[in-house]
Amino acid sequence: MSGAETTAGAGRISLSELPLRPELVGEEPYGAPQLDVPVCLNVNENPYAPSDAVRADMAAAVASAAGAVNRYPDREATLLREKLAGYLGHGLSAANIWAANGSNEVMTHLLQAFGGPGRTLLTFAPTYSMYPEYARNTHTEYRTVGRGDDFAIDPAAAVAAVREHRPDVILIATPNNPTGTPTPLATIAAICAAAPGIVVVDEAYQEFARPGTPSALELLPTQPRLVVSRTMSKAFAFAGGRLGYLAAAPAVVDACRIVRLPYHLSAITQAVAVVALEHADEMLAQVAALREARDDIVTWLRDQGLTVADSDANFAYFGRFADRQQVFADLLERGVLIRATGPDGWLRVSAGTPQEMKAFKQALLEVLPSAERVADTGAGKEQR
Ligand SMILES: *Cc1c(COP(=O)(O)O)cnc(C)c1O
Repeated sequence: MSGAETTAGAGRISLSELPLRPELVGEEPYGAPQLDVPVCLNVNENPYAPSDAVRADMAAAVASAAGAVNRYPDREATLLREKLAGYLGHGLSAANIWAANGSNEVMTHLLQAFGGPGRTLLTFAPTYSMYPEYARNTHTEYRTVGRGDDFAIDPAAAVAAVREHRPDVILIATPNNPTGTPTPLATIAAICAAAPGIVVVDEAYQEFARPGTPSALELLPTQPRLVVSRTMSKAFAFAGGRLGYLAAAPAVVDACRIVRLPYHLSAITQAVAVVALEHADEMLAQVAALREARDDIVTWLRDQGLTVADSDANFAYFGRFADRQQVFADLLERGVLIRATGPDGWLRVSAGTPQEMKAFKQALLEVLPSAERVADTGAGKEQR
Protein backbone atom coordinates (compact mmCIF):
# COMPACT_ATOMS: atom_id res chain seq x y z
CA MET A 1 0.00 0.00 0.00
CA SER A 2 2.16 2.90 1.18
CA GLY A 3 5.67 3.35 -0.13
CA ALA A 4 7.12 2.61 3.30
CA GLU A 5 5.61 -0.88 3.35
CA THR A 6 6.77 -1.89 -0.11
CA THR A 7 10.35 -0.62 0.19
CA ALA A 8 12.71 -3.47 0.87
CA GLY A 9 15.70 -3.34 3.18
CA ALA A 10 16.62 -0.66 5.66
CA GLY A 11 14.07 1.54 7.35
CA ARG A 12 11.04 -0.73 7.31
CA ILE A 13 8.52 1.26 9.27
CA SER A 14 4.89 2.14 8.76
CA LEU A 15 3.43 5.63 8.88
CA SER A 16 1.55 4.82 12.08
CA GLU A 17 4.86 4.11 13.84
CA LEU A 18 6.32 7.50 12.95
CA PRO A 19 5.98 10.49 15.28
CA LEU A 20 3.72 12.32 12.84
CA ARG A 21 2.18 15.62 13.95
CA PRO A 22 -1.14 14.59 15.56
CA GLU A 23 -3.24 16.73 13.25
CA LEU A 24 -1.79 14.87 10.26
CA VAL A 25 -2.66 11.38 11.52
CA GLY A 26 -5.21 9.77 9.19
CA GLU A 27 -4.87 12.53 6.60
CA GLU A 28 -4.68 11.64 2.91
CA PRO A 29 -2.45 13.46 0.41
CA TYR A 30 -4.14 15.63 -2.29
CA GLY A 31 -5.80 13.01 -4.35
CA ALA A 32 -7.17 13.81 -7.78
CA PRO A 33 -6.53 10.38 -9.33
CA GLN A 34 -3.81 10.40 -12.01
CA LEU A 35 -5.05 7.54 -14.19
CA ASP A 36 -3.94 6.56 -17.66
CA VAL A 37 -7.29 6.81 -19.46
CA PRO A 38 -8.14 8.10 -22.94
CA VAL A 39 -10.19 11.11 -21.82
CA CYS A 40 -8.91 13.13 -18.83
CA LEU A 41 -11.39 15.84 -17.86
CA ASN A 42 -10.65 15.87 -14.14
CA VAL A 43 -8.13 18.59 -13.23
CA ASN A 44 -9.11 21.53 -15.46
CA GLU A 45 -5.97 21.50 -17.57
CA ASN A 46 -5.79 23.17 -20.96
CA PRO A 47 -5.84 20.10 -23.24
CA TYR A 48 -3.83 21.77 -26.02
CA ALA A 49 -0.06 21.14 -25.93
CA PRO A 50 2.29 23.89 -27.10
CA SER A 51 3.26 24.04 -30.78
CA ASP A 52 6.55 22.64 -32.07
CA ALA A 53 7.89 26.21 -32.39
CA VAL A 54 7.17 27.03 -28.72
CA ARG A 55 8.56 23.67 -27.62
CA ALA A 56 11.77 24.38 -29.55
CA ASP A 57 12.10 27.77 -27.83
CA MET A 58 11.52 26.12 -24.44
CA ALA A 59 14.16 23.50 -25.20
CA ALA A 60 16.65 26.21 -26.22
CA ALA A 61 15.93 28.11 -23.00
CA VAL A 62 16.53 24.97 -20.96
CA ALA A 63 19.80 24.32 -22.81
CA SER A 64 20.90 27.85 -22.07
CA ALA A 65 19.89 27.67 -18.39
CA ALA A 66 21.68 24.33 -18.10
CA GLY A 67 24.91 26.12 -19.00
CA ALA A 68 24.77 27.83 -15.60
CA VAL A 69 23.00 25.12 -13.61
CA ASN A 70 26.03 24.85 -11.28
CA ARG A 71 24.97 28.28 -9.96
CA TYR A 72 21.91 29.10 -7.89
CA PRO A 73 19.08 30.74 -9.84
CA ASP A 74 18.04 34.39 -9.57
CA ARG A 75 16.47 34.35 -6.11
CA GLU A 76 14.20 37.24 -7.02
CA ALA A 77 13.15 35.83 -10.42
CA THR A 78 13.28 39.41 -11.67
CA LEU A 79 12.95 38.83 -15.40
CA LEU A 80 10.07 36.42 -14.90
CA ARG A 81 8.27 38.83 -12.58
CA GLU A 82 8.71 41.62 -15.14
CA LYS A 83 7.13 39.39 -17.79
CA LEU A 84 4.26 38.47 -15.46
CA ALA A 85 3.63 42.15 -14.70
CA GLY A 86 3.62 42.88 -18.42
CA TYR A 87 1.11 40.10 -19.00
CA LEU A 88 -1.26 41.37 -16.29
CA GLY A 89 -1.02 45.03 -17.31
CA HIS A 90 -3.06 47.29 -14.99
CA GLY A 91 0.05 49.45 -14.43
CA LEU A 92 1.77 46.69 -12.42
CA SER A 93 5.54 46.24 -12.26
CA ALA A 94 7.83 43.46 -11.03
CA ALA A 95 7.70 44.96 -7.52
CA ASN A 96 3.99 44.08 -7.39
CA ILE A 97 4.49 40.46 -8.43
CA TRP A 98 5.50 37.35 -6.50
CA ALA A 99 5.97 33.97 -8.17
CA ALA A 100 6.35 30.41 -6.94
CA ASN A 101 5.94 26.76 -7.93
CA GLY A 102 2.23 26.90 -8.71
CA SER A 103 -0.27 29.13 -6.98
CA ASN A 104 -0.45 26.43 -4.33
CA GLU A 105 3.01 27.53 -3.21
CA VAL A 106 2.04 31.19 -3.50
CA MET A 107 -0.89 30.49 -1.15
CA THR A 108 1.39 28.63 1.22
CA HIS A 109 3.69 31.66 1.34
CA LEU A 110 0.72 33.92 2.09
CA LEU A 111 -0.52 31.64 4.87
CA GLN A 112 2.97 31.30 6.32
CA ALA A 113 3.30 35.07 6.34
CA PHE A 114 -0.19 36.12 7.41
CA GLY A 115 -1.74 33.01 9.00
CA GLY A 116 -0.32 30.82 11.72
CA PRO A 117 -1.15 29.76 15.29
CA GLY A 118 -3.93 31.86 16.80
CA ARG A 119 -4.85 33.26 13.42
CA THR A 120 -7.88 32.57 11.23
CA LEU A 121 -8.52 31.95 7.54
CA LEU A 122 -12.07 32.60 6.31
CA THR A 123 -13.40 31.31 3.00
CA PHE A 124 -16.69 30.61 1.23
CA ALA A 125 -17.73 26.98 0.86
CA PRO A 126 -18.01 24.92 -1.21
CA THR A 127 -14.64 25.95 -2.60
CA TYR A 128 -11.18 24.68 -3.53
CA SER A 129 -10.30 21.51 -1.62
CA MET A 130 -6.74 22.67 -0.94
CA TYR A 131 -7.76 25.68 1.19
CA PRO A 132 -8.28 23.69 4.42
CA GLU A 133 -4.95 21.99 3.78
CA TYR A 134 -3.05 25.29 3.53
CA ALA A 135 -4.66 26.22 6.84
CA ARG A 136 -3.83 22.90 8.49
CA ASN A 137 -0.22 22.97 7.31
CA THR A 138 0.32 26.45 8.70
CA HIS A 139 -1.63 25.89 11.97
CA THR A 140 -4.19 28.48 10.89
CA GLU A 141 -7.79 28.11 12.07
CA TYR A 142 -10.08 27.39 9.10
CA ARG A 143 -13.58 28.87 8.98
CA THR A 144 -16.14 28.86 6.20
CA VAL A 145 -19.25 30.82 5.31
CA GLY A 146 -21.75 28.89 3.18
CA ARG A 147 -22.49 30.08 -0.32
CA GLY A 148 -26.10 30.50 -1.46
CA ASP A 149 -28.20 28.05 -3.44
CA ASP A 150 -26.63 29.33 -6.66
CA PHE A 151 -23.14 29.05 -5.05
CA ALA A 152 -22.83 32.86 -5.00
CA ILE A 153 -21.39 34.71 -2.01
CA ASP A 154 -24.04 36.77 -0.24
CA PRO A 155 -22.32 40.12 0.43
CA ALA A 156 -24.26 40.83 3.63
CA ALA A 157 -23.57 37.36 5.07
CA ALA A 158 -19.93 37.67 4.08
CA VAL A 159 -19.48 41.06 5.73
CA ALA A 160 -21.29 39.85 8.86
CA ALA A 161 -18.98 36.82 9.07
CA VAL A 162 -15.91 39.01 8.60
CA ARG A 163 -17.07 41.32 11.42
CA GLU A 164 -17.79 38.34 13.68
CA HIS A 165 -14.62 36.30 13.11
CA ARG A 166 -12.12 39.07 12.31
CA PRO A 167 -10.13 36.73 10.04
CA ASP A 168 -6.46 37.45 9.41
CA VAL A 169 -6.77 36.07 5.89
CA ILE A 170 -9.85 35.87 3.66
CA LEU A 171 -9.68 33.65 0.61
CA ILE A 172 -12.13 34.12 -2.28
CA ALA A 173 -11.87 31.84 -5.32
CA THR A 174 -13.42 33.59 -8.32
CA PRO A 175 -14.39 32.02 -10.61
CA ASN A 176 -14.86 29.48 -7.83
CA ASN A 177 -13.67 25.89 -7.98
CA PRO A 178 -15.54 23.48 -8.15
CA THR A 179 -18.63 25.50 -8.98
CA GLY A 180 -17.40 28.04 -11.61
CA THR A 181 -19.21 30.89 -9.84
CA PRO A 182 -17.87 34.44 -10.26
CA THR A 183 -17.89 36.97 -7.42
CA PRO A 184 -18.79 40.56 -8.38
CA LEU A 185 -16.17 43.23 -7.67
CA ALA A 186 -18.70 45.03 -5.47
CA THR A 187 -18.81 41.99 -3.16
CA ILE A 188 -15.02 41.79 -3.04
CA ALA A 189 -14.81 45.51 -2.31
CA ALA A 190 -17.37 45.18 0.50
CA ILE A 191 -15.39 42.29 2.01
CA CYS A 192 -12.15 44.32 1.71
CA ALA A 193 -13.80 47.25 3.46
CA ALA A 194 -14.82 45.05 6.42
CA ALA A 195 -11.64 42.94 6.53
CA PRO A 196 -9.11 43.58 9.28
CA GLY A 197 -6.40 41.60 7.43
CA ILE A 198 -5.40 40.32 4.03
CA VAL A 199 -7.96 39.51 1.31
CA VAL A 200 -6.73 37.02 -1.27
CA VAL A 201 -8.69 36.66 -4.50
CA ASP A 202 -7.78 33.41 -6.24
CA GLU A 203 -8.28 34.06 -9.96
CA ALA A 204 -6.93 30.72 -11.19
CA TYR A 205 -9.64 30.63 -13.88
CA GLN A 206 -10.03 34.34 -14.64
CA GLU A 207 -8.98 34.04 -18.29
CA PHE A 208 -12.00 31.80 -18.89
CA ALA A 209 -14.53 34.26 -17.47
CA ARG A 210 -17.42 35.29 -19.69
CA PRO A 211 -16.99 38.71 -21.34
CA GLY A 212 -17.69 41.56 -18.94
CA THR A 213 -16.44 39.71 -15.86
CA PRO A 214 -13.83 42.12 -14.49
CA SER A 215 -10.69 41.06 -12.63
CA ALA A 216 -10.04 42.02 -9.02
CA LEU A 217 -6.81 43.53 -10.38
CA GLU A 218 -8.99 46.60 -10.95
CA LEU A 219 -9.38 46.98 -7.18
CA LEU A 220 -5.65 46.88 -6.35
CA PRO A 221 -5.10 50.67 -6.57
CA THR A 222 -7.78 51.30 -3.94
CA GLN A 223 -7.35 48.21 -1.72
CA PRO A 224 -3.85 48.07 -0.19
CA ARG A 225 -4.38 44.72 1.59
CA LEU A 226 -5.83 42.97 -1.45
CA VAL A 227 -3.86 40.17 -3.11
CA VAL A 228 -4.82 38.73 -6.51
CA SER A 229 -3.50 35.23 -7.15
CA ARG A 230 -3.10 33.76 -10.65
CA THR A 231 -1.64 30.63 -12.16
CA MET A 232 -0.17 29.52 -15.47
CA SER A 233 -1.61 26.02 -14.87
CA LYS A 234 -5.03 26.47 -16.41
CA ALA A 235 -5.67 28.89 -19.31
CA PHE A 236 -1.95 29.30 -19.91
CA ALA A 237 -1.50 25.59 -20.71
CA PHE A 238 1.52 25.35 -18.38
CA ALA A 239 0.38 23.02 -15.58
CA GLY A 240 3.52 20.91 -15.92
CA GLY A 241 5.75 23.98 -15.65
CA ARG A 242 4.47 24.76 -12.13
CA LEU A 243 4.18 28.52 -12.06
CA GLY A 244 1.78 30.54 -9.94
CA TYR A 245 1.99 34.22 -9.05
CA LEU A 246 0.29 37.06 -7.26
CA ALA A 247 -0.18 40.78 -7.75
CA ALA A 248 -0.32 43.04 -4.70
CA ALA A 249 1.35 45.96 -2.96
CA PRO A 250 5.16 45.59 -2.88
CA ALA A 251 4.95 45.12 0.91
CA VAL A 252 3.00 41.87 0.41
CA VAL A 253 5.78 40.68 -1.90
CA ASP A 254 8.30 41.56 0.82
CA ALA A 255 6.31 39.44 3.30
CA CYS A 256 6.41 36.45 0.94
CA ARG A 257 10.15 36.91 0.52
CA ILE A 258 10.61 36.42 4.27
CA VAL A 259 9.01 32.96 4.33
CA ARG A 260 10.01 31.52 0.95
CA LEU A 261 12.73 28.91 0.91
CA PRO A 262 16.01 30.15 -0.60
CA TYR A 263 16.05 29.85 -4.40
CA HIS A 264 12.60 28.29 -4.40
CA LEU A 265 12.06 28.82 -8.13
CA SER A 266 14.51 26.80 -10.20
CA ALA A 267 16.49 28.32 -13.08
CA ILE A 268 14.78 25.82 -15.40
CA THR A 269 11.30 26.83 -14.26
CA GLN A 270 12.09 30.51 -14.63
CA ALA A 271 13.58 30.09 -18.09
CA VAL A 272 10.70 28.00 -19.47
CA ALA A 273 8.03 30.22 -17.90
CA VAL A 274 9.63 33.29 -19.50
CA VAL A 275 9.42 31.57 -22.90
CA ALA A 276 5.76 30.71 -22.28
CA LEU A 277 5.04 34.35 -21.40
CA GLU A 278 6.86 35.57 -24.51
CA HIS A 279 4.44 33.37 -26.45
CA ALA A 280 1.41 34.37 -24.38
CA ASP A 281 -0.82 34.88 -27.42
CA GLU A 282 -0.13 31.37 -28.62
CA MET A 283 -0.31 29.74 -25.17
CA LEU A 284 -3.72 31.35 -24.67
CA ALA A 285 -4.92 30.80 -28.24
CA GLN A 286 -7.37 28.02 -27.31
CA VAL A 287 -9.00 29.86 -24.41
CA ALA A 288 -11.87 31.10 -26.61
CA ALA A 289 -12.47 27.56 -27.88
CA LEU A 290 -12.44 26.22 -24.30
CA ARG A 291 -14.93 28.90 -23.24
CA GLU A 292 -17.20 27.77 -26.06
CA ALA A 293 -16.75 24.13 -25.03
CA ARG A 294 -17.67 25.16 -21.47
CA ASP A 295 -20.80 27.01 -22.59
CA ASP A 296 -21.77 24.12 -24.84
CA ILE A 297 -21.39 21.50 -22.11
CA VAL A 298 -23.35 23.60 -19.58
CA THR A 299 -26.22 23.89 -22.09
CA TRP A 300 -26.04 20.25 -23.08
CA LEU A 301 -26.07 19.01 -19.48
CA ARG A 302 -29.12 21.20 -18.80
CA ASP A 303 -30.78 19.72 -21.87
CA GLN A 304 -30.34 16.33 -20.20
CA GLY A 305 -32.42 17.62 -17.30
CA LEU A 306 -29.46 18.04 -14.97
CA THR A 307 -28.84 20.94 -12.62
CA VAL A 308 -25.74 22.84 -13.75
CA ALA A 309 -24.10 25.79 -12.02
CA ASP A 310 -23.39 28.87 -14.15
CA SER A 311 -19.68 28.70 -14.93
CA ASP A 312 -17.02 31.29 -15.68
CA ALA A 313 -14.27 28.68 -15.51
CA ASN A 314 -13.17 25.90 -17.88
CA PHE A 315 -15.43 23.30 -16.29
CA ALA A 316 -19.06 22.55 -15.56
CA TYR A 317 -20.44 21.47 -12.19
CA PHE A 318 -23.53 19.31 -12.46
CA GLY A 319 -25.82 17.00 -10.54
CA ARG A 320 -27.37 15.97 -8.47
CA PHE A 321 -27.01 12.23 -8.27
CA ALA A 322 -28.09 9.91 -5.49
CA ASP A 323 -24.77 8.08 -5.98
CA ARG A 324 -22.24 10.27 -7.73
CA GLN A 325 -19.44 7.77 -7.14
CA GLN A 326 -21.37 5.28 -9.27
CA VAL A 327 -21.74 7.80 -12.11
CA PHE A 328 -18.04 8.65 -11.78
CA ALA A 329 -17.11 4.94 -11.91
CA ASP A 330 -19.46 4.19 -14.82
CA LEU A 331 -17.84 7.01 -16.83
CA LEU A 332 -14.36 5.81 -15.90
CA GLU A 333 -15.28 2.34 -17.13
CA ARG A 334 -15.94 4.02 -20.50
CA GLY A 335 -12.52 5.72 -20.47
CA VAL A 336 -13.70 9.13 -19.25
CA LEU A 337 -12.18 10.53 -16.06
CA ILE A 338 -14.01 13.42 -14.37
CA ARG A 339 -14.02 14.61 -10.73
CA ALA A 340 -16.29 13.85 -7.80
CA THR A 341 -15.64 16.82 -5.53
CA GLY A 342 -17.50 19.34 -3.40
CA PRO A 343 -21.02 18.85 -2.03
CA ASP A 344 -22.56 15.40 -2.24
CA GLY A 345 -24.32 14.54 -5.48
CA TRP A 346 -22.32 16.85 -7.73
CA LEU A 347 -19.72 16.09 -10.39
CA ARG A 348 -17.28 18.35 -12.22
CA VAL A 349 -16.16 17.95 -15.82
CA SER A 350 -13.40 20.02 -17.44
CA ALA A 351 -13.81 21.60 -20.87
CA GLY A 352 -11.66 19.64 -23.30
CA THR A 353 -11.11 19.22 -27.03
CA PRO A 354 -14.13 18.60 -29.31
CA GLN A 355 -13.23 14.88 -29.39
CA GLU A 356 -12.99 14.73 -25.60
CA MET A 357 -16.35 16.47 -25.16
CA LYS A 358 -17.93 14.11 -27.66
CA ALA A 359 -16.56 11.11 -25.77
CA PHE A 360 -17.84 12.54 -22.48
CA LYS A 361 -21.33 13.18 -23.85
CA GLN A 362 -21.52 9.73 -25.40
CA ALA A 363 -20.42 8.05 -22.18
CA LEU A 364 -22.77 10.11 -20.03
CA LEU A 365 -25.72 9.30 -22.30
CA GLU A 366 -25.02 5.63 -21.68
CA VAL A 367 -24.71 6.14 -17.94
CA LEU A 368 -27.62 8.51 -17.25
CA PRO A 369 -30.56 6.11 -17.65
CA SER A 370 -29.41 4.08 -14.64
CA ALA A 371 -28.31 7.11 -12.56
CA GLU A 372 -30.80 8.08 -9.88
CA ARG A 373 -31.28 11.86 -9.67
CA VAL A 374 -31.89 13.87 -6.54
CA ALA A 375 -34.51 16.60 -6.65
CA ASP A 376 -32.98 20.06 -6.86
CA THR A 377 -33.20 21.40 -3.33
CA GLY A 378 -30.61 24.11 -3.77
CA ALA A 379 -26.94 23.82 -4.37
CA GLY A 380 -25.10 25.19 -1.38
CA LYS A 381 -27.34 24.10 1.46
CA GLU A 382 -25.45 21.11 2.77
CA GLN A 383 -22.30 23.22 3.16
CA ARG A 384 -23.80 25.68 5.62
C1 LIG B 1 -6.08 24.73 -10.16
C2 LIG B 1 -6.24 25.76 -9.11
C3 LIG B 1 -5.15 26.50 -8.67
C4 LIG B 1 -3.81 26.33 -9.34
O1 LIG B 1 -2.91 25.57 -8.71
P1 LIG B 1 -1.41 25.55 -9.24
O2 LIG B 1 -0.64 25.20 -8.00
O3 LIG B 1 -1.06 26.90 -9.76
O4 LIG B 1 -1.35 24.51 -10.30
C5 LIG B 1 -5.34 27.47 -7.71
N1 LIG B 1 -6.55 27.72 -7.21
C6 LIG B 1 -7.62 27.05 -7.62
C7 LIG B 1 -8.95 27.39 -7.06
C8 LIG B 1 -7.50 26.04 -8.57
O5 LIG B 1 -8.57 25.36 -8.96
